[in-house]
Amino acid sequence: MAGVKEHLIKHVLKEEAPVSNNKITVVGVGAVGMACAISVLLKELTDELALVDVIEDKLQGETLDLLHGSLFLHTPKIVSGKDYSVTANSRLVVVTAGARQQEGESRLNLVQRNVNIFKYIIPNIVKYSPNCILLVVSNPVDILTYVAWKLSGLPKNRVIGSGCNLDSARFRYEMSQILGIHSSSCHGWVIGEHGDSSVAVWSGVNVAGVCLKTLNPEMGTDNDPEHWKKVHKQVINSAYEVIKLKGYTSWAIGLSVADLALSIFKNLKKVHPVSTLVNGMHGVTNDVFLSVPCVLGNAGISDVVNMILKPDEEQQLQKSAETLWSVQKDIQY
Ligand code: NAD
Repeated sequence: MAGVKEHLIKHVLKEEAPVSNNKITVVGVGAVGMACAISVLLKELTDELALVDVIEDKLQGETLDLLHGSLFLHTPKIVSGKDYSVTANSRLVVVTAGARQQEGESRLNLVQRNVNIFKYIIPNIVKYSPNCILLVVSNPVDILTYVAWKLSGLPKNRVIGSGCNLDSARFRYEMSQILGIHSSSCHGWVIGEHGDSSVAVWSGVNVAGVCLKTLNPEMGTDNDPEHWKKVHKQVINSAYEVIKLKGYTSWAIGLSVADLALSIFKNLKKVHPVSTLVNGMHGVTNDVFLSVPCVLGNAGISDVVNMILKPDEEQQLQKSAETLWSVQKDIQY
């Protein structure tokens, strides 16, 4: 007997509805994964979101909670599961799974724990979405991006680490607080390792093309009477500070990931400080991933902007590379 649905609706489509070509998967539904999920949903970038985690109750709870907000979203399909078949045909896969930093723990300490998790996750992602772009967020992000590149077999343009996209946003926020100008008009790049050995490129800090180092030649040095160096110190300390206060960081990284997704999905060719394979750049001679200004579009990273660095900035970048390589070379796969 026909029910309400059959009386109400006449089905006219003969063939199967086409599959989504802008699907996003988020692996790991912790604080960071869910901040990424809500940020991409609110940007209306996708018509299908898949969530994966190993804790089934939590995964189901987060999925239901999002689905209950369907009325206010423009993403009709939100799926989840422990099995990676739910991620099939993703265009972008954001990996946030892993152990998180404990209070006072360095990102590098997390390495081996998260490598073991990646050995399971990455081959499964690639099995179901061989054409995807992988965006790694889990820490230590630069090393884990290298690990994801190795484990996935994907070309380097399609394996990206969120890297210093967040550090640069934090830098620009701190600058904005000093100058009373919106972050988007405060230009400054933090490159290298996401975290403790990141490099602030003081030579390029500017507002409206006015180079601030011309106004204060000591900017960023220990001799600076205005102590601008503390802006970068705050960037390095900010994750530790937020973790101490609320236990984890989430909103800023979620928003920054959605901004990267926007550049990829809309083929914007916008330049972001994200982590890419830098062997051969700025005197780096090992296979390490570090943040440099990368052009993002629908193929992932299409180009890298050659920064004109001062010798001390280049040296700091090389030191970052050495720090990462010293850890990376001992990873057990
Ligand atoms: P969390 O503990 O809240 O969440 C991690 C999630 O990963 C958990 O839900 C856990 O069940 C899941 N998980 C663990 N193993 C898994 C597996 N094999 N498959 C699928 N899911 C698995 O941690 P969080 O605060 O969300 O942080 C996640 C990661 O993001 C951490 O490594 C953290 O350091 C990193 N992070 C990176 C940045 C950045 O700028 N790159 C910023 C903040 C946090």
